[in-house]
Amino acid sequence: MAIAVRNLTKRFGTFQAVGGVSFEVPAGELVALLGPSGSGKSTILRIIAGLEPADSGDVEITGEDASNLSTQQRGVGFVFQHYALFRHMTIRQNVAFGLQVQKPRPPASEIKARVEELLELVQLLVHADRYPSQLSGGQRQRVALARALATRPKVLLLDEPFGALDAKVRDELRTWLRRLHDEVHVTSLFVTHDQQEAFEVADQVIVLNKGKVEQMGPPQELYEHPATPFVTEFLGSVN
Ligand code: ADP
Ligand code: MG
Repeated sequence: MAIAVRNLTKRFGTFQAVGGVSFEVPAGELVALLGPSGSGKSTILRIIAGLEPADSGDVEITGEDASNLSTQQRGVGFVFQHYALFRHMTIRQNVAFGLQVQKPRPPASEIKARVEELLELVQLLVHADRYPSQLSGGQRQRVALARALATRPKVLLLDEPFGALDAKVRDELRTWLRRLHDEVHVTSLFVTHDQQEAFEVADQVIVLNKGKVEQMGPPQELYEHPATPFVTEFLGSVN
């Protein structure tokens, strides 16, 4: 398993944000963590990334206990809604950044080749020397995807990466994410509150409600055999 979480719990004061969550993400899959606002999705993702400590429970990344590893040691890449690009750097410099601070630092020729390969993949190589302000919101998130993949992370974590964009652009980016995933096969955990988004891009969907997993399975299975009344209702509702 590329990611395994077992019995994760997290309280904020007396409020139980994550109430004993367990799931596994198989290597190479794109799995959606789907639930309404406040259901604990971001908290779980932050715990997996090592950005927030859990109260109890375990996180394993590619079979290794991650409890005592820093974010960098965990080998995760992430794309967040508000994890903005560096405004004073060109697109090329943004994508190269993670490689330039890597230890040991790869040779310049290797960095250049990797950056160009990724920008080609998201079809933005022609804009490599522009600044983020010169791109559209959708193009910027494609750069963010390329940047997150630059260091070849073991897993990619995405927290509502397209949430701030309008419906049409979001739709395009879904297709981009799926294409990119099929190209590089990086195990990805994708957080969203949008059922349609989850069902369109993911191999499997984990439905979360009030800090607990209601059901996990391939989209079709969830549709045909919802395990709980919550799943039935949530999948039937429209955003
Ligand atoms: P989601 O991403 O599904 O919207 P979150 O994981 O962000 O949910 O939050 C789950 C719950 O925990 C929410 O009720 C939120 O208000 C609460 N919460 C999250 N982070 C904090 C924090 N740092 N302090 C207090 N409460 C928090
Ligand atoms: Mg969130």
